[in-house]
Amino acid sequence: MAGLQERIAQLEGHLARFRHDGVLNLIAGQNVSGSEWFETRSPVDESLIARVALGTAETVDAAAKAAKAAFPAWAALEGEKRKAILQRIADLIEARAEEIALCECWDTGQAWRFMSKAALRGAENFRFFADRAPAARDGQSLPTASHWNVTTRHPIGPVGVITPWNTPFMLSTWKIAPALAAGCTVVHKPAEFSPLTARLLAEICHEAGLPPGVLNLVNGMGEGAGKALTEHPDIKAIAFVGESRTGSMIMKQGADTLKRVHFELGGKNPVIVFDDADLDRALDAVVFMIYSLNGERCTSSSRLLVQDSIAEEFHAKLAQRVKRLKVGHPLDPATEVGPLIHRTHFDKVSGYVEMGCADGATLAAGGKRIGTEGWFIEPTLFTRATPQMRIAQEEVFGPFLTSLTFKDEAEALSIANGVAYGLAGYLWTDDLSRALRFSDALEAGMIWVNSENVRHLPTPFGGVKASGIGRDGGDWSFDFYMETKNTAFALGTHKIQRLGA
Ligand code: NAD
Repeated sequence: MAGLQERIAQLEGHLARFRHDGVLNLIAGQNVSGSEWFETRSPVDESLIARVALGTAETVDAAAKAAKAAFPAWAALEGEKRKAILQRIADLIEARAEEIALCECWDTGQAWRFMSKAALRGAENFRFFADRAPAARDGQSLPTASHWNVTTRHPIGPVGVITPWNTPFMLSTWKIAPALAAGCTVVHKPAEFSPLTARLLAEICHEAGLPPGVLNLVNGMGEGAGKALTEHPDIKAIAFVGESRTGSMIMKQGADTLKRVHFELGGKNPVIVFDDADLDRALDAVVFMIYSLNGERCTSSSRLLVQDSIAEEFHAKLAQRVKRLKVGHPLDPATEVGPLIHRTHFDKVSGYVEMGCADGATLAAGGKRIGTEGWFIEPTLFTRATPQMRIAQEEVFGPFLTSLTFKDEAEALSIANGVAYGLAGYLWTDDLSRALRFSDALEAGMIWVNSENVRHLPTPFGGVKASGIGRDGGDWSFDFYMETKNTAFALGTHKIQRLGA
């Protein structure tokens, strides 16, 4: 296995061209630099990675026009042909998986041990939706005595995809692959903190033979390029992953052009541990689901609800594990937690440490900055929090766990549901009836019983309450990117009312 120095040398090789040319936009198959630039810096040491072409409303307009022009031919292309192109994209992602992972680690601060698989998961997303492309237009036959009703599906048109910085490559493929499989064309606006791998994806798509204009890349700020995309009249729908607050802005921005929206937003997901659970497995899952991916994960279990009777022992074991987590350089194979993405995010997470202490929760582990270079923070654990504290209500989005205790099922459920969010929930109990009752009443789009988050692509992914609108995965993705049409064919036998006869 390659060590840190070897990985840094490989990374340098991949970054050279970004350093030379900058990270360019890609519109109608052409590189577009624009007149202004912004910078992307590494969270490891704040060094400049590259300058990035700043997309403006004009850039978005050009990209939307390219997507509109490319739409009729792409939508009309046989499903089998779309499938073949998407499969080639998956092949090329696999071939460049190492480059993608290295760039992602350096741009975001995510540890290699997780990112090395992220590119492969991106390829899997493309393969999954490629296989479904030929059947995307399929509908139903709903006959009556007088009419045959036949439904068909049609791609909605050019769509905008807006993605965040936490696991940018995987999330971009998760949104873009089904859009392309459905026959939509795309304008992608990636997060300004992590532009590198979106550029790699756009290049791969074109190398794989995706026609010009089918996928267009515009980098820029949310309030600039992002806003312009959500307001553009040629863009029929916006698939957005990011903060709940941003989702609500996008809904307003898209109102004049009646945008269809799909939102995957924030979470404050509970993991509930009852005293009858397999506590060793529960502990492993609790630690994994908040400290992997730097806790910068929408489905992280950021609230631990642990039953009174086992709380002391569980907390002691948990604190020990948290203190032993290996924080370090994201390209070091031993690293479990890397630096936070950016200074502003580091300040946000540190602010919650101060808040937790001021509100009277117990700081059982971590909370301090590590070193003076980059945005490393000690994995943090607060115990003995109460449900109304801000650290128990708000999404921190870092390696930061808030633990609360409960006495019985009713109290656990009331705490679990007592937040604005409802993305995921994790339940640990050996009592089957309780698992059924509890999961039925838990307000969340996705629930895992006696498990960490293990994703199965055909299942629906998404949240309730402030965590989102709509579902991804399986056929749910096509429902968003396509319009359903019903055509009624009369058998010529029914009576038609005769007016004015
Ligand atoms: P963010 O909302 O700040 O930004 C996300 C994207 O939206 C970026 O590309 C940004 O430039 C753009 N944007 C910002 N303002 C905009 C505007 N007015 N109009 C159009 N676009 C705009 O989110 P973030 O900080 O990048 O990401 C972290 C958030 O994402 C967390 O809340 C996390 O829970 C959420 N997230 C959710 C899921 C999910 O599946 N539910 C997955 C990953 C991340």
